[in-house]
Amino acid sequence: MSPPKFVTCPPAFAQLFDEGEASMSSVLSKATWDIETGTHHVAGDRYVLIRAESLTVGVQEELEKVLGSGKDAATYRLGKALGSTTCRKVASTYPDFSREQILALGPIAFALNGFSKTTIREESNLAFDDSFLMFYEHSNSFEAESFKQNGITTPKTACWLSAGFVAGWCTEALGFNVESREVSCTARGDDKCIFVMCVPKKLREVSKDLCTKHGIASDPK
Ligand SMILES: [Zn+2]
Repeated sequence: MSPPKFVTCPPAFAQLFDEGEASMSSVLSKATWDIETGTHHVAGDRYVLIRAESLTVGVQEELEKVLGSGKDAATYRLGKALGSTTCRKVASTYPDFSREQILALGPIAFALNGFSKTTIREESNLAFDDSFLMFYEHSNSFEAESFKQNGITTPKTACWLSAGFVAGWCTEALGFNVESREVSCTARGDDKCIFVMCVPKKLREVSKDLCTKHGIASDPK
């Protein structure tokens, strides 16, 4: 068995993600462009290709004018809606897949959509109860990368759409609500974009414990 390509994960999860990649690998060959109608489809679904930097820097500037400090929560909720509805569609495409397999398709879909590659860290516990924990990194977040390419250092973590997408996907696959919090972000000068995701009632405490354990300064620098 070859290691998963779209996800880096502990050995215990490798088979799950490897099977997920195999099932979705054919999707890449089902992308079509129709110049006459101005449409782009992947496996029958219509997609809109948006330049990452415009979606990040340009949209955030406009959102801040309208929403002020509420732009981060709005962006997170937009990401969560994107993640949950995409997961629902994928689950209907693979009706024979278990909930574990649908959950595992999340980081693969995340990579196929161009958000980032995901690294799942050892402390993660992909259980279908409130002990669920995903402690993970996005090694090349399109959001952080866009800010950096524009020479912008953000005062806070910046990958709200990514955090929301993953939380939305996992909430849909798990069947109960989870939230994701970015505790380290390259857009504000940290070494990595690192996230903690679990049920909301545990998020603050679990994030604090993991940050302490790994020496992560989760507050803005
Ligand atoms: Zn980030």
